[in-house]
Amino acid sequence: MSFDALTLRQRFPVLSRRVRGKEFVYLDNAATTHKPDVVIEALRRFYAEEYATVHRGVYFLSEQATHAYEQVRVKAARFLGAARPEEIVFVRGTTEALNLVAYSWGGTFLKRGDTVLVSAMEHHSNIVPWQLVCERSGARLEVIPMSDRGELMMEEFERQLTSSVKIVAVTQLSNALGTLNPVREICALARRAGAVSVVDGAQGAPHLAVDVREMGCDFYACSGHKMYGPSGIGLLYGRHELLEKMPPWQGGGDMIDSVRFEKTEYAAPPRRFEAGTPAIAPVIGLGATLDFLASFDRVAAEAHERQLLEETEKRLRAVQGLRIIGTARRKAGAVSFVMENAHPHDIAAVADEEGVALRAGHHCAQPVMARFGVPATARASFAIYNTVADVEALVAALHKVNRIFS
Ligand code: PLP
Repeated sequence: MSFDALTLRQRFPVLSRRVRGKEFVYLDNAATTHKPDVVIEALRRFYAEEYATVHRGVYFLSEQATHAYEQVRVKAARFLGAARPEEIVFVRGTTEALNLVAYSWGGTFLKRGDTVLVSAMEHHSNIVPWQLVCERSGARLEVIPMSDRGELMMEEFERQLTSSVKIVAVTQLSNALGTLNPVREICALARRAGAVSVVDGAQGAPHLAVDVREMGCDFYACSGHKMYGPSGIGLLYGRHELLEKMPPWQGGGDMIDSVRFEKTEYAAPPRRFEAGTPAIAPVIGLGATLDFLASFDRVAAEAHERQLLEETEKRLRAVQGLRIIGTARRKAGAVSFVMENAHPHDIAAVADEEGVALRAGHHCAQPVMARFGVPATARASFAIYNTVADVEALVAALHKVNRIFS
């Protein structure tokens, strides 16, 4: 197995188009990634030739679709290193996965006096669901602080880990800062303290090989659309022992064993958590995505992305008036920055004129912006198909920003 960014890039049709008369440079991969030919083709083929509902039909196409759908669960379990396919719940994305855990586990087991610990660099989707369940249960939300570099303060975390802490919810990789967190250590400390660990893998899964058992987490969430797959589908990994104790969070078809007006018996996990007709085609597309991810050397891909990030940071430091936000020692995937003379939205607008898609804003991490005292940042985020030419286009656009705004 090998890895070559330029060859892989050709597998992504949209990347060969021109934007505003310029070559398209896509650096908003932390928001969502583009799709390779095999994923697009799998979706086309499924709709054109194989489409049917799953779990219910006794006819050929439905049986075939059900088999294909459940095979993706097997692949997803392998992809995340789960012990068994039943530990994989199909969800809409990371947001839904985190809400599921907060609502079902948190709603059942949290009570007044308990604490939920989240980190200071969480995406809103790993904050708000916990606030909602804290409001309902009377539990308290506490925050693991971070340093000026954007690294979690581990000593403080250990002090915070008292017996009242029932949940520790942290991101593997920060979308706003690019910080890689020591999730293995965090999960081990949480477990020792008797708390359940929830890892937000929205940014981790696209960039790093994941093994949930090696990581030692209880729950892990990720989104298909951020790792070259279809939108509308994501994965929740939950340790079977925990999933078994959790009640459904939505009721409807497919999540039951039997329904009587007097009493309904729920299906075993994962079906218990998948009410209604699922995202059939996106699951099939995700299967093709997982095959795609298994088709190249992911360790080499990780090294390629790391090199791009280092090269970008080196060149950004040479841009007049530019300040990188988030200087953690272990980073991946994204670099956030501000410039003295231009608002991040102006930076992104000028970059867009040059065909460079950058992100500007709070990146759904307003507490991170508050921590660093900025209203917003510009962010460049990478994928396997980015090259040094993309970095050069970015830096040229930033020099243009300086020419316009200085
Ligand atoms: N967590 C992190 C760290 C993210 O970057 C994102 C999306 O940007 C999410 C969670 C939410 O993912 P989704 O919108 O796919 O549910």
